[in-house]
Amino acid sequence: THFGFRDVPVAEKQKLVGQVFTSVARNYDLMNDLMSFGVHRLWKRHFVAMSGVRKGDRVLDLAGGTGDIAALLKPVVGETGEIVVGDINAAMLSVGRDRLTDRGLVKGLRWAQMNAEVLPFPDNHFDAVTIAFGLRNVTDKDKALADMCRVLKPGGRALVLEFSKVRNETFGKLYDFHSFQVLPRLGRLFAGDADSYRYLAESIRKHPDQDTLKSMMERAGFGRVDVRNLTGGIVAIHRGYKF
Ligand code: SAM
Repeated sequence: THFGFRDVPVAEKQKLVGQVFTSVARNYDLMNDLMSFGVHRLWKRHFVAMSGVRKGDRVLDLAGGTGDIAALLKPVVGETGEIVVGDINAAMLSVGRDRLTDRGLVKGLRWAQMNAEVLPFPDNHFDAVTIAFGLRNVTDKDKALADMCRVLKPGGRALVLEFSKVRNETFGKLYDFHSFQVLPRLGRLFAGDADSYRYLAESIRKHPDQDTLKSMMERAGFGRVDVRNLTGGIVAIHRGYKF
């Protein structure tokens, strides 16, 4: 298949994103390590540390796919806490659930297929909502952010971990080379699928930069939004509170 990334209609885009993740689900972990030289693990640890999640909290991890964030959150919320992993893609969910089950992580974890734009939860329900490397793929990001705010309890917070804009120009050029030359080749070599990885590189380039995403969160209803750049802005963590 060829994924026409530019200027596809909205309904098409959702279908394409679905195909990409069904196609990459099984090789997802290996590819993450290869593409980021393993650094995505550090980003995720940092993300969970910044979440302020505590024992007993109820957390929604959106676009939770392979369960990376849920696995890190589980020891933090402990026996009394609850984590709901929501993802639009059944293949990603089942890879994640199997993986965490193999590691003995079952209790207090729920897996549910859902679209981040229309969350199947009542208002004021979660202490925290996290979304790691997921918002980029959501068609209507404003709608998703507003719904994340809606399901949070007052005082709760949302955290977004996402690719962002690299600060330094030279580093940016290197990074583009990695994204558009190296990454699709890695995709073909290790996952037999260059197109999906080309889509990923495109989607990273098109994603709103630090300031834009901050304004989007404020418009969606979040207060005290702060931004932390990691690895020179390759990724950024946005954190906002519901008041
Ligand atoms: N959070 C995991 C991580 O950090 O390793 C997985 C990230 S993966 C790059 C992106 C995930 O977003 C995929 O599992 C995909 O199915 C999911 N996704 C895409 N669009 C979505 C939507 N509208 N609602 C919920 N999940 C979505």
